[in-house]
Amino acid sequence: MNITTKHGFSTKAVHAGEELNFKEGATGDVVVPIHLSTTFARVKTAEATTGYDYTRSLNPTRKALESKLAFLENAKYGLAFSSGLAAESTVLLSLLKPGDHIVAFDDLYGGTKRLFENVFSNYGFEVSYADATNASLVEKAIQSSTKLVWIESPTNPLLKLSDIKAIATITRKHGIILVMDNTFLSPYFQKPLDLGADAVVHSSTKYIGGHSDVLGGAIAVNNDTYYERIQYHQNAVGAVLAPFDSYLTLRGIKTLSLRMERHQENALEIAHYLEKHPKVSRVIYPGLNSHPQHDLAKTQASGFGGVLSFEIKGSMVDAERFLEKLELFALAESLGGVESLIELPALMTHVSVPKEVRERIGITDTLIRVSVGIEDTEDLIADLEQAFQ
Ligand code: PLP
Repeated sequence: MNITTKHGFSTKAVHAGEELNFKEGATGDVVVPIHLSTTFARVKTAEATTGYDYTRSLNPTRKALESKLAFLENAKYGLAFSSGLAAESTVLLSLLKPGDHIVAFDDLYGGTKRLFENVFSNYGFEVSYADATNASLVEKAIQSSTKLVWIESPTNPLLKLSDIKAIATITRKHGIILVMDNTFLSPYFQKPLDLGADAVVHSSTKYIGGHSDVLGGAIAVNNDTYYERIQYHQNAVGAVLAPFDSYLTLRGIKTLSLRMERHQENALEIAHYLEKHPKVSRVIYPGLNSHPQHDLAKTQASGFGGVLSFEIKGSMVDAERFLEKLELFALAESLGGVESLIELPALMTHVSVPKEVRERIGITDTLIRVSVGIEDTEDLIADLEQAFQ
């Protein structure tokens, strides 16, 4: 059976790109095989190939994943890369040229900022930042050379949102490309292309892969020209996802809807527990009424995700003692896996951000970020409680 856009998300997650094949010679695989061959033979030099020549250009396992990714983002095209940053670099290389200016959310993943400031700036790309929680500030930051706006929603670790529809209206008006990093909510909860974004990027290392065992990146687009340019650069630059990693990512995606529901259920319960805790001064989670953009979270996404942040009362030393007492939560960077991870941004993910900048944007010494896993909530709360004690 062919999967169509009319099928539900979970049906697409399981079957898209891996439809059963009973054509002559086919084996009826229920799971797409891992095609390790790096090259593909043809019968005659002048005859058309099977559609596959060389794995960097196209590989059957990666193709299945790319098709699934496109279905899940409601996109015409999906592309898979060796990491989230490889996907981001390919977007920039294929859609911009030296001298072009980017307006980016001032609260972006640090690696994306590093890519803009320490890599692409060396090749004549320019970037300036705006507080994209306010769409009019994004418009204000647009210059005559601005060609692209780059946003994340929710951001990391402060879980700020941007109004994707409002920003897309502005970028359309100015003829600018809107790129949205959809890593935190995954296509299960948020579909930026439907809200007007031109390109979606992912670190599929996170929720899409979902098991902290495969690094990868993805792009989804609808526009034919953007796709052609991105696909050209995917092959020409070569940061493609390997066949085995494509298989692991395909395997992870099949449970995306189940995992996202459970991540969110656990995150919401933990957020409520933390809000009432006497040793906690602040909880940030878009699913809480107390989140300043809770209404926007409810309208532009169908869920709030599995990441939350909170501030523990006391000093950085108290925060460190608390983290080191945890037994179920692994003290680790990254997010989006089935296991719960916890970290102190001031000493871990955001240690390279100067203290005064961190404090200004709200990443205090006692701010803790949690990627809530899919374990039993009672066990997670019991672990937090014993660490607080
Ligand atoms: N975007 C976001 C929101 C991320 O959190 C990350 C990694 O943490 C990336 C992009 C980069 O992805 P990768 O680590 O797969 O290169």
